[in-house]
Amino acid sequence: MLVLLLLQGCSPVRTRYTHTFLGTFDTVVQVIGYADSRADFERAAQTLETRMTELHRLFDIYNTYDNLNNLKTVNDCAGICPVVVDKAVLDLVSLVLDQPSDVVDVVNIALGPVLSLWHRYREAGVSVPPPDALEQAATLSDASDVIIDRAASTLFLRRPSMSLDVGACAKGYAVALVCAELPDGYLVSAGGNVLARGRPDDRDAWTVGIQDPLRPESADPLLTLRVADGAVVTSGDYQRYYEVDGRRYCHIIDPATLFPAANFCSVSVIGPDSALCDLLSTALFVLPYEDGLKLAQSRGCDAIWVSPSGEINMTDGARDMLQP
Ligand code: ADP
Ligand code: MG
Repeated sequence: MLVLLLLQGCSPVRTRYTHTFLGTFDTVVQVIGYADSRADFERAAQTLETRMTELHRLFDIYNTYDNLNNLKTVNDCAGICPVVVDKAVLDLVSLVLDQPSDVVDVVNIALGPVLSLWHRYREAGVSVPPPDALEQAATLSDASDVIIDRAASTLFLRRPSMSLDVGACAKGYAVALVCAELPDGYLVSAGGNVLARGRPDDRDAWTVGIQDPLRPESADPLLTLRVADGAVVTSGDYQRYYEVDGRRYCHIIDPATLFPAANFCSVSVIGPDSALCDLLSTALFVLPYEDGLKLAQSRGCDAIWVSPSGEINMTDGARDMLQP
């Protein structure tokens, strides 16, 4: 009787499976999960991949899809007409627009014209955009010209040639949505966005590596965190950048200068919600350390900053998570 009770008291360890796919959000997505059978795991992973693909299409600003209004449709209709969009699109846009000023001053989803100018120059790789072209693009980047009509489910960009770019938070938001449908014992990693649902079955925490931004080719992480539940999201300058005259220009733009932010090589944000962590990772990448620290703390998140000199700063909560 006693043995039976003891056996019932400890739940059996399920088997660990992994599933990897490409083709969404410009990155590799890896799903790790504990399940009773491979079939159970594959079903969950496949549902996640399908949902991730739907969200990718909705937030895509480069391609249109048959019978689907996505952000490219909204951008193409700027100054012309409102576009009926899926609730997930309205929710993502509202999530950013409804942030307090400490966030929207540095993360602006209407910065599309400025970001696409930098994108063109980055692809060419020889020079930086002229300041007057950046200033001109910035005149079309006012977030107050983004009109959300919840009753009609529409999104409208008031001025012609405006465009939305949700790159700063779409991946984290999508990961949050797909993970909400998973049981505990799963972890999803999508290009710098990691979200764990509950703990692994056989340990008390997942180990999440923070890539070394000064040696991105190194297989060894700079730091390893123990994560029991929640998100770790990193923004870095080492994956999408180009160099002109020996200076690095990355893909995160400071709306105040219209030039790439250069205070840090990477910033990781740790918290319960991967959508907020992704938004804050971009904000903290732009903000000076003191302002970023205040912002992270005010939103209940921890963070790790790596400077170009290799200096590492982190909140106490992040330090507590370090793998010895
Ligand atoms: P990643 O996309 O590499 O995971 P981020 O979450 O930091 O990194 O997002 C960077 C993307 O956000 C850029 O590629 C661009 O599309 C967009 N972006 C860059 N700067 C800003 C900004 N100041 N405000 C809003 N979006 C931005
Ligand atoms: Mg981000």
